[in-house]
Amino acid sequence: MYRDYASYIKEKFGVRVQKIALNPGFGCPNRDGKIGFGGCTYCNNKTFSPFYGQAEKPISQQMDEGIDFFAKKYKAQKYIAYFQSYTNTYADIDTLRGIYQSALTRDDVVGLTVATRPDCVNDATLDLLSEFAKKYYTVLEIGVESCYDETLKMLNRGHTFAQAEDTIKRAHNAGLETCAHLIMYLPNETTEMMFKTADMMSQLPVNILKLHQLQIIKGTKIEQQFYNQPDMFHLPDVEEYAEFAARYALRTRRDMIFERFVSESPRNMLVAPVWNGMKNYEITEKIKKKFIELEKKSQ
Ligand code: SF4
Repeated sequence: MYRDYASYIKEKFGVRVQKIALNPGFGCPNRDGKIGFGGCTYCNNKTFSPFYGQAEKPISQQMDEGIDFFAKKYKAQKYIAYFQSYTNTYADIDTLRGIYQSALTRDDVVGLTVATRPDCVNDATLDLLSEFAKKYYTVLEIGVESCYDETLKMLNRGHTFAQAEDTIKRAHNAGLETCAHLIMYLPNETTEMMFKTADMMSQLPVNILKLHQLQIIKGTKIEQQFYNQPDMFHLPDVEEYAEFAARYALRTRRDMIFERFVSESPRNMLVAPVWNGMKNYEITEKIKKKFIELEKKSQ
């Protein structure tokens, strides 16, 4: 079986550990003109900001409210401060230090995960995160998205794959765990191209992979492209995706940890693919079953 993140974390800490998604309100250089305007063609951050993780609230309040919410659902657990929305290294070093620190004041917080773009991680930021890594489980989550520059250009990402490779290596050398975020079934990417990214990730010092299917969200630029140039898109149904994801996992390095295979945007914001209301965990179960079946066949 592939290594899954929940079991990995449970082994590490001995209890269930919940990530609390935070938004420090740093914005994104691919929206404000520093790197680009308008953002990535598929981006709509509203799809992934929980009620407690709103930028106008101080980080300590976002943590407290997030923990209160999850503490009611599950007993005895620890938490990871997860800086998720937009670009969480996009501020000067003193601001970053203060913001990260303010998420780590409670005794039940054991880790820090910082999500960012590959082109927004300078050496000072890595030094700062290495300091936190001495005391907390610390992960840098890097938005690789695609390993193909032509795709990255079409998505208006504003960076290249070489920049992602460089950041992954530097973060690893700084002693951080690295997580690569990739989107599957992007326009014009064939199955073989996507499988090759499993090889590319396996050759890099990536510890954790987070994959999800491309989702066309209402009001994004890619929605227009989806209507205007439908031939560029192939959006799989659940069965096809489950088989693909299982094969992908089978092809990666054996110690790779899979944190996620699917994403579920609110139905009222989603144009396609619509998977009949299936929940993430149901799809992940399908992927696991498929993986076990394929693994047996390959032995
Ligand atoms: S996906 Fe990330 S990098 Fe792209 S515009 Fe949205 S916040 Fe910025």
